[in-house]
Amino acid sequence: MWIVFSRGACYNKSMPNRRPTFDETYMEVVEVIAKRATCLRRKVGAVITIDRRILSHGYNGVPPGHVHCIDTGQCLKDLAGTEEYKICVHAEQNAICQCAKRGLALAGATLYVNADVCITCAKLMVSSGIVKCVVKRDHKGNSDGIDLLLKSGVEVVEWTGE
Ligand SMILES: [Zn+2]
Ligand SMILES: [Zn+2]
Repeated sequence: MWIVFSRGACYNKSMPNRRPTFDETYMEVVEVIAKRATCLRRKVGAVITIDRRILSHGYNGVPPGHVHCIDTGQCLKDLAGTEEYKICVHAEQNAICQCAKRGLALAGATLYVNADVCITCAKLMVSSGIVKCVVKRDHKGNSDGIDLLLKSGVEVVEWTGE
């Protein structure tokens, strides 16, 4: 399998000696993690790194002990009706919560994600000290989260690769 990025670089075919960058590497990891998502509507993955090493990852689902969308056959967001009462935990939130659970500081961290960042996730990212976000937009949301990140001084890289 050859992986071609839209910027024209193909690291394992035309340039056999070119290694993928860390951003390229972790955006691939995000796609693998997303396969674990339990929602019927979207499969989102997130990876958090510090000093170019993976600290945590997350995918969208429900809190531990609750029934998943894939088990009910209907998306729990649709069942709940309103955004406020939906039980879904976003990939970014799960990745951040895992750090809270294990006592890992996020100051200076980078978060990689393959979907539009929502306003709640953006708030959590800013408040937990994440300084960079690499996002592959899926345009199923809007740009409110990204706007908040930018307004808060977070470096945002829009990922256009495969
Ligand atoms: Zn769902
Ligand atoms: Zn979110």
